[in-house]
Amino acid sequence: MSILVVGTVAYDAIKTPFGERPHILGGSATHFSVSASFFTDVRLVAVVGDDFKPESEQVLVDRGVDVTDLKRLPGRKTFFWKGEYGFDLNTAHTLDTQINVLAEFDPQLDESAREVPYMFLANTDPVLQRQARQQSRARFVALDTMNFWIEGNRDGLVKALADIDLLVVNDAEARELAGESNLIRAARVIRELGPKILVVKRGEYGAALFSDHGYFATPAFPLEEVVDPTGAGDSFAGGMMGYLAASNDTSDAGLRRAIIYGSVMASFNVEAFGCERLLELTHDEIAGRFRQFKALTFFEEAEFNGRSVAVR
Ligand code: AMP
Repeated sequence: MSILVVGTVAYDAIKTPFGERPHILGGSATHFSVSASFFTDVRLVAVVGDDFKPESEQVLVDRGVDVTDLKRLPGRKTFFWKGEYGFDLNTAHTLDTQINVLAEFDPQLDESAREVPYMFLANTDPVLQRQARQQSRARFVALDTMNFWIEGNRDGLVKALADIDLLVVNDAEARELAGESNLIRAARVIRELGPKILVVKRGEYGAALFSDHGYFATPAFPLEEVVDPTGAGDSFAGGMMGYLAASNDTSDAGLRRAIIYGSVMASFNVEAFGCERLLELTHDEIAGRFRQFKALTFFEEAEFNGRSVAVR
């Protein structure tokens, strides 16, 4: 099973307490595609300007990403995002967002793109997300968004949410979208807007899954060195959706495993700037960290004073 992703391909300027990169390949669809490409075939739908360098496109091609639908608009500049992190690496401070070429993007899916069974609507204008969704006959559709769009086009976003299966957002965005500070209640409000499944990313604290089957949560991988969290959310989504598409298993057990694969990919992504770390990642490293997650979250019931649960 393969995945179609619609989102941004961008240049980022990033500053963290550990260094900076003034002009680096980024974008929600870029991070997602690189991550998901470890699991399945990825077809990318996005737009760039004529400043987009061939070597940037080559990064995607080298990962086997199908870039047939990566459009180049002459006379326009590629989407640009400038962000900064303090020592609290959980919170990105957006300093500049230049929509540029995105303003004129009109995603058109051809017949073969419409048939791709898994679809990821990565962070981009919710109007574009909905347009793409309406053309697709995917069996499973997930969407990611952020405060920029929740605040900029809430109505458009609510419309886009009506027709998707899974929403993945961070905890602050879930609260903001629902207008509800309690995350459990926020999850209920959001799931009433359309997506039956909600995945909440909690940065260094892990991720949580809300569905008709109930609740599941995982911690994040305990890393001593986090260099740049940019793209953590998209590489999480890439691991999660990549696994779902590869296994074609969206049962509760499949979703739980997908959350772990998402956490594995995000944990590697933050070890270096942009997508640098994922570009040198191996399948053995992914498998190894997946098993470490299993050990990390495992516990046993033990007999205590002749009872199986330790209560007096
Ligand atoms: P994240 O995975 O949430 O850290 O996403 C990081 C990527 O999102 C960066 O590489 C940016 O280029 C991209 N990005 C930032 N702001 C936006 C936005 N408003 N819409 C779409 N993509 C964005």
